[in-house]
Amino acid sequence: MDFRAFHPPLRTLMGPGPSDVPPRILEALGRPTIGHLDPAFIELMDDVKRLLQYLMQTENALTMPISAPGSAGMEACFVNLVEPGDKVIVCQNGVFGGRMKENVERCGGVAVMVQDPWGSAIDPQKLEDALLANPDAKVVAFVHAETSTGAQSDAATLAELARRHDCLTIVDTVTSLGGTPVRVDEWQLDAVYSGTQKCLSCVPGIAPVTFSERAQHRIKNRTHKVQSWFLDMNLIMGYWGQGAKRAYHHTAPVNAMYALHEACLMVHEEGLENAWARHRRNHVALRAGLEAMGIAFIVDEAHRLPQLNAVRIPDGVDDAAVRRRLLQEHHLEIGAGLGDLAGKVWRIGLMGYSSRIENITGCLGALDGVLADMGAPVAAGAALPAAEKVLAAA
Ligand SMILES: *Cc1c(COP(=O)(O)O)cnc(C)c1O
Repeated sequence: MDFRAFHPPLRTLMGPGPSDVPPRILEALGRPTIGHLDPAFIELMDDVKRLLQYLMQTENALTMPISAPGSAGMEACFVNLVEPGDKVIVCQNGVFGGRMKENVERCGGVAVMVQDPWGSAIDPQKLEDALLANPDAKVVAFVHAETSTGAQSDAATLAELARRHDCLTIVDTVTSLGGTPVRVDEWQLDAVYSGTQKCLSCVPGIAPVTFSERAQHRIKNRTHKVQSWFLDMNLIMGYWGQGAKRAYHHTAPVNAMYALHEACLMVHEEGLENAWARHRRNHVALRAGLEAMGIAFIVDEAHRLPQLNAVRIPDGVDDAAVRRRLLQEHHLEIGAGLGDLAGKVWRIGLMGYSSRIENITGCLGALDGVLADMGAPVAAGAALPAAEKVLAAA
């Protein structure tokens, strides 16, 4: 057998995540591994907690990275807050809301689904109706930024409704964190999870989470043990909890934490507001180019995510062939449609370090060339001038 070292091809990542990881973060990842209970590592953990509090705009003491991907962050929130028999209202407007339902049911809870069309934001009126019809509901769960459709919902309004009906909130901010405002304290969200590989442009595999005082109270007063040993916050707190003597729970992914620390530092140096503005500005330029080509967005302007641009595939165009050519000829990855939108949309990510001017022009140029070559019904040559005009004015 003949095995060789793996050298990945160089790609530009403009899909729904992972996004491009900047060299600075990759360099941090390669620093020497130390013990996960080494005093130097414990200092790093405290720093990461403080940086995550800044990123999530919260003073919650229980703010930390879970040593597993965004999906584990989701699971951590559900297994800790939902007990057998609990009723949970899940607002669904895309793929990830469906996973929330799965989580509720696997916790032994009862999911009450509030459906909105894919591509729309969650309708607060429908949530209010569900809250009125289910006065025994204990939790409201929703996705802030639906990566499957590119729609953003009004987390502040949804959380206020939940609070008024005595429900805790579980909020998915995997795609929003670092790209659009996430204000955990101001919006009074209770259990919030995110991921590292979207707008933070870190390596995949870690899930920042934060829990409010109310959520912590609920966790501490559960009648049933959390069914997941690994994700039981009561146990994890002994490892990550501040002040307390650190006890072994699991071996943290030490080098991945170096990378997360560096990624948080980069956002802190840029400033959150500036990062949000950059995502917005670059979206406007990409949009100008795509629309000049004749490609339409599926989400209405008011609810569109700047970091995830879901656009309709032009009529008669072979979805897979276009993405294959972009990858082979331009080393460019864009996202396919998920679930109900498979084959109908492309998802072009401008997340974190991928949200750069050269990526906008590179993507528009590549898409324009490939589509024109395939005889697609688009205005060839129109995209770049339109985007450049917007960039010049910015
Ligand atoms: C990517 C994503 C997840 C899952 O994160 P993984 O790191 O892939 O497990 C969850 N929710 C949303 C909205 C996402 O975009």
